[in-house]
Amino acid sequence: MTRSGQEYLASLCDGREVWLDGERVRDVTRHAAFRNTAASVAHLYDLAHDSEQSPVLTSGGVHRAFAVPRSYEDLVARRHAYKVWTESSFGFLGRTPDYMAGGAAGFAALPEVFTTDSFDGADNALAYHRRLAEGDLYAAFTITNPQSGEGEDDLVVRVVAEKDDGIVVSGAKMIGTGAVFADEVLVGTIEPLAPEDVEHALCFSVPVGTPGLTLVSRTSYEAGARSVFDNPLSSRFDENDALLVCDEVFVPWERVLTYRNAEATAAMWWGTPAYLNFSHQAATRFWTKLEFLTGLAILLTRANNTSQLPAVTQSVGRLLGMVAQAKAFVLAAEAGHEPVDGGRGAVMPGREISYAQRIMAGEIYPRVVQEIKLLAGGGIIQLPASGGDLLHPQLGPVVRKYLRVPGTPAEDRVKLLKLVWDALGSEFAGRHEQYERFYHGAPHVYLTMQTWAGGAESCEELAQACLEGYGLGEDLGPFRSIRPDQGACVPGHASPAGSAGQDPRTGQ
Ligand SMILES: Cc1cc2nc3c(=O)[nH]c(=O)nc-3n(C[C@H](O)[C@H](O)[C@H](O)COP(=O)(O)OP(=O)(O)OC[C@H]3O[C@@H](n4cnc5c(N)ncnc54)[C@H](O)[C@@H]3O)c2cc1C
Repeated sequence: MTRSGQEYLASLCDGREVWLDGERVRDVTRHAAFRNTAASVAHLYDLAHDSEQSPVLTSGGVHRAFAVPRSYEDLVARRHAYKVWTESSFGFLGRTPDYMAGGAAGFAALPEVFTTDSFDGADNALAYHRRLAEGDLYAAFTITNPQSGEGEDDLVVRVVAEKDDGIVVSGAKMIGTGAVFADEVLVGTIEPLAPEDVEHALCFSVPVGTPGLTLVSRTSYEAGARSVFDNPLSSRFDENDALLVCDEVFVPWERVLTYRNAEATAAMWWGTPAYLNFSHQAATRFWTKLEFLTGLAILLTRANNTSQLPAVTQSVGRLLGMVAQAKAFVLAAEAGHEPVDGGRGAVMPGREISYAQRIMAGEIYPRVVQEIKLLAGGGIIQLPASGGDLLHPQLGPVVRKYLRVPGTPAEDRVKLLKLVWDALGSEFAGRHEQYERFYHGAPHVYLTMQTWAGGAESCEELAQACLEGYGLGEDLGPFRSIRPDQGACVPGHASPAGSAGQDPRTGQ
């Protein structure tokens, strides 16, 4: 059954080892760097108990992201659930619990992938999905290796001892987005490994509070926020990214999903619907984020009294066009859904469109940011250091006088511009730009994948058909042989015999 926000927050008090700026964080639900974002995640859980949202978010008392979709309608219902959650953070919380819930549902759709000669993780994969769904758990994942040079493989999580009841692992993984707020963290590798690299070919999931597991947080934008008024997004939606370090962490066998098998360690992502389910959530979030940013742009141009200028109207049109693109990718991936091969009736979002979404999103996000910054001008910089200036007895009237524009009081304008800066110009915003470029892998990886899986054959066939329609030394062909005095538009002349109904691709 779905948890309440309070139950979720209580689950975070498990002795987890989180470090920030040299300080061991004892309680992420109370610490100034994490508490607001923890509350934002708790709000998501509470939404599932809201009488209006509950039917959209859950089915049979379980969040819809945990369900294995069996039809187009199931995918649409899941997207509606994704949309409710992501709208509550305006698209700025990327790794909400529904992200990995979809991944786990992907494993459950095809558990056979986990059965190998070296280890049979199929039952464990099913148990993982059941455990998350029944407990309504929040799972993060670290499936990227630290950017280390060759010959430094001992930096990466690997098995250092094997016991009767499990394995002992040491090493690091990056980047644990949301891990400090999660119940469990899944540790694996999404990058293809050489078949013989069995030392690094493993995947497991453990509670974040497991002894020996440490999360080293990056700079906290929430801690740097002055107030919600001054930093409306970073103060509440800083989902955190942390380096995961394992120092002789014990993992019981029942929590191991793949072991000493490079093929299964990659196939759990690419051979099941797990990655495509990730994409479905991420594409819905991306669409929502662009809706929000475009809405900000519209409000901004009104507040700056520039909205009627033709160039500004066109700029907003360009942004709305990008929103439509982001939406179209979600709808097209659903419409192009595919059966899961061997998945007993399970379906998944279409691969070609889902993979292409990564290219589109990574490329247009910086353009959206640029477009809105151009609309903003200097106003997003010329802001009082804090909203407190507006309330100051001496300074308040001065700031209010000089920061208003006709039709928009200073307080409303400062509030809006601070939101715009937090979304597009702050350090938090810079992290978001990097997130949209990399959270789904690096371009050299996904562009190469698109070349393999992106429908290259039909494009090539079409171009080839054109080439095959003519040749050097052949007569000029029926189209070119129409003399000026024979054209269909010349009075008294019909099309030359043989040319009507001709296929221009083949000349036949
Ligand atoms: C904000 C953020 C959050 C993230 N959250 C998570 C998370 O929760 N869990 C997780 O597992 N991962 C997460 N990631 C990690 C993400 O998956 C990786 O950043 C991504 O897969 C790219 O890997 P990398 O960073 O090692 O980049 P690299 O592979 O080192 O690539 C960086 C750049 O180096 C160049 N390059 C490197 N190798 C090649 C090559 N062979 N050919 C051509 N160019 C090359 C390219 O310019 C490339 O863009 C997150 C990343 C970011 C930025």
